Amino acid sequence: MNSPYELVLRLAGQKPVRKQYKTGPAAALKYAHGWLTKHQTKPGKSATLYSIHSATQRFEHAEEIPLPEKSSVDFYASQPWKKLAHDAIANRRKQCLQDGSVFSCALCFKAFGPGVQAHADHIKPRSLYPDLALDMSNIQILCSDCNLGKSNRDATDWR
Ligand SMILES: [Zn+2]
Repeated sequence: MNSPYELVLRLAGQKPVRKQYKTGPAAALKYAHGWLTKHQTKPGKSATLYSIHSATQRFEHAEEIPLPEKSSVDFYASQPWKKLAHDAIANRRKQCLQDGSVFSCALCFKAFGPGVQAHADHIKPRSLYPDLALDMSNIQILCSDCNLGKSNRDATDWR
């Protein structure tokens, strides 16, 4: 194997097709996904990704392939999200000013200021609750440390 990633596509009774990938598994997985979709009715099909970096992955159905979530990048760059995040932070700050409390992280209570940035965060993760992605009541304000440390499995309301 000359490349770090080699994708081998097999169909019953046919010579396997080999494709080499140099940069990473993403392009190979994407190709395998498309190939398996195209040949979904064919017998004995499989796509196997060999890599010097990780264990061999073998797929027989397109649905088994973990594709990177491109939509995630698009969502956080979208105008509706940017506006909601901005409004959520502004509202929270205003509320704190009004009731005299410290504008701080809902999780670790660190006060926002120089070096401690306020981030709008989904209480119920977007991956599990897409309907609540733009729901103001599903937004809490966290510092960047807490925001980045939170996983999608965590649906705790820290407020
Ligand atoms: Zn925090």
